Amino acid sequence: MKEDRPCRPLAVVGAGAAGLSAALWAARLGWMPAVFEAADRPGGQLQAVHQPIIDYLGLPARDGPELIRLFLDHLRQAGVSIALGVPIAGILHRTEPRPHFLLVPGKKTGPPDAGVPASTDRKNGGASVLCARAVILATGTRPRRLGVPGEALIAESAWSSTSRNAERFHGRAVVIVGGGDRAVEGALNVAPHAAVVTLLVRGAALKARSALRQKLPSHRNIRIFYRTVIRRIEASDGPGPRYRLLLAPSDGPPSEAGAGKTEESLPPVLTADDVLLRIGMEPVLPPIWTEASDPGRSQAEDAFLAAGGAMLEETVPEGIWIAGDAALPASERSVAAAVGSGMQAAKRAVLWLEAQQILSEADASEAGG
Ligand SMILES: Cc1cc2nc3c(=O)[nH]c(=O)nc-3n(C[C@H](O)[C@H](O)[C@H](O)COP(=O)(O)OP(=O)(O)OC[C@H]3O[C@@H](n4cnc5c(N)ncnc54)[C@H](O)[C@@H]3O)c2cc1C
Repeated sequence: MKEDRPCRPLAVVGAGAAGLSAALWAARLGWMPAVFEAADRPGGQLQAVHQPIIDYLGLPARDGPELIRLFLDHLRQAGVSIALGVPIAGILHRTEPRPHFLLVPGKKTGPPDAGVPASTDRKNGGASVLCARAVILATGTRPRRLGVPGEALIAESAWSSTSRNAERFHGRAVVIVGGGDRAVEGALNVAPHAAVVTLLVRGAALKARSALRQKLPSHRNIRIFYRTVIRRIEASDGPGPRYRLLLAPSDGPPSEAGAGKTEESLPPVLTADDVLLRIGMEPVLPPIWTEASDPGRSQAEDAFLAAGGAMLEETVPEGIWIAGDAALPASERSVAAAVGSGMQAAKRAVLWLEAQQILSEADASEAGG
């Protein structure tokens, strides 16, 4: 395995709002980081925001891509470049001769994107392992899966936007799984077009905010089944609806909040043209291995691709910080929190590097003449 030497002081993994903010702050504090982004475009979730962003102080934006452009302009001015299409498959923690981390790149997935901004850098996207003394993981979240047989059948469309292409649900039977803001928002987006929208809610009540809940009764084609889970998803044969969902009552104890809310008795099987999963997001973090558990590169890639690398924060070794959605509770995930958390991680990492008496690249080259 080829390793780039010498060790860079700081690497940032993920170029969403948190990673970009961490990179800017590190650069401004004199510690130019190496930045790696798995996707072919920077911006993370902001790439998928197609409605106005009205809650980021001082920068209301038409949509996510506009905010990304503003962020990238700022980073360009600070001289930060981003290696795109470089998923970090795993991180190896080494203690000899000094503590450091080896970032193992995985296989690049997906086609190259034509719209890559000028500040980004594909040269770094090779297969070299990068050595860094400190690492900020700003790798965001991924949609939570149901974990039931047949889920792969709905893998492609289950997470797609309902605000952008609501018309594509015209006349269709749509099932939305979840009871939070995104589930209810999805139901409200789709209802004007769909024949019927069924919300399947595991708990006894909706968790969505009341402003959204209050809009539900005005859509007669939205129905809700509470305390309901999907046991299995099957593809339907023939010309009718595409999916058969085998349902069951959820185990949770009945709560007063949801008592009597189920509008119809639960059918054992529901058919649907579309199934949209809105059951929340979970942190996505590359696995970290110590010397004792060195897996080698292919295992690192396997673990990454299997997406089983979710790691508990308490297992993170000294020298690694987690920023943004990957570290934030669900209720606080936002651009503002991601940007703030990126700043925090960068400042902590820089203080730590200084405490370790590690030289920044600028200082090191000065010291070396
Ligand atoms: C539809 C939608 C609408 C939203 N609307 C708003 C809103 O109006 N206001 C608001 O404040 N917030 C909104 N949000 C939330 C906000 O976009 C996020 O909280 C924020 O962008 C999270 O930033 P992040 O950098 O923590 O994570 P992400 O944006 O998820 O970025 C993580 C990045 O890390 C990369 N990555 C992951 N793993 C690896 C790896 N192993 N190697 C290399 N790279 C990796 C990913 O490709 C990604 O680019 C919305 C989100 C969505 C999806």
